[in-house]
Amino acid sequence: MRIGIDIGGTKAHAIAIDHEGVVLGELRLPSGRGNAVLATVREAITRLSAEVAAGGSGDARVESLGMGIPGWVDADSGVVSHAVNLGIERLELGGGVADLVDGPVRVDNDVNAAALGAFALLEQPPDSMAYLNVGTGLAAGIVLDGRVWRGFRGIAGEVGHLPVDPDGIVCICGQIGCLETVASGIALRGDWAGGDFATALAQGDAAALHARRLLVHGVADAVQVLFQTIGVETVVLGGGVVNNLDGVAESVRDELAARASRSPFVASLGLAERLRVAPNEASIPAIGAALLPESGSRASTVRSSHRR
Ligand SMILES: [Zn+2]
Repeated sequence: MRIGIDIGGTKAHAIAIDHEGVVLGELRLPSGRGNAVLATVREAITRLSAEVAAGGSGDARVESLGMGIPGWVDADSGVVSHAVNLGIERLELGGGVADLVDGPVRVDNDVNAAALGAFALLEQPPDSMAYLNVGTGLAAGIVLDGRVWRGFRGIAGEVGHLPVDPDGIVCICGQIGCLETVASGIALRGDWAGGDFATALAQGDAAALHARRLLVHGVADAVQVLFQTIGVETVVLGGGVVNNLDGVAESVRDELAARASRSPFVASLGLAERLRVAPNEASIPAIGAALLPESGSRASTVRSSHRR
């Protein structure tokens, strides 16, 4: 079996699949913080293989392991750094669990893992795809010929930190007016009339309506950047904001159509027609993580030191 683990800010979701992608077992655990994340991953692997062995539903040997985690990941060494939400400064995540796995171990950032999961669920997989995750932050994962393309130092797809508004607010990255400051979950935090953003929107609050317009415009900008710089065939929208805020994907498509109506150039690109929405499927990041070892950007992976 192949195991994929999506390590989120609070919870880790581990899933075991066979070679046909059939789910053999899954579980959720608190992620823990700092070095405790390693213990969480080890527990997840041990419990999943015990569960599959007991259930007799498949080969309980762990043939490969993939992990997605929010933070900077050196995909070749499996070292995670600056995973602020998890209290990790530096952690040898890949190397720290290789003894439990009989095959390759691969770590990547959570958005790249989710991109692979979204790709795997598309009915007609395109040659080139960008998965734009509108979650707490704004970032994309790029899948070319079925493999994650990370780019130089893994920077490919970091569209959230493009500074586009000189009059904008200061971003967590230190720049001013990044796309992420208007087009992400971060942008929707704060004190809204009625308590939360969705309630304020439902009440027709002017500030909330304005924030939604900026969000849609910013996501459309990010979609256009991905189409026009990488030249991908398809952009797939996903993430918590897309899943939980009614009509956002439709509004982004409308915005792209409006841009096309004003510009023969944009019209010729057919952006709105090539935009897709990821299924609202909670297991996309974990399934994508399970597919990482065979779809890495390079052949080199962290090999198990397990000897028998
Ligand atoms: Zn930024």
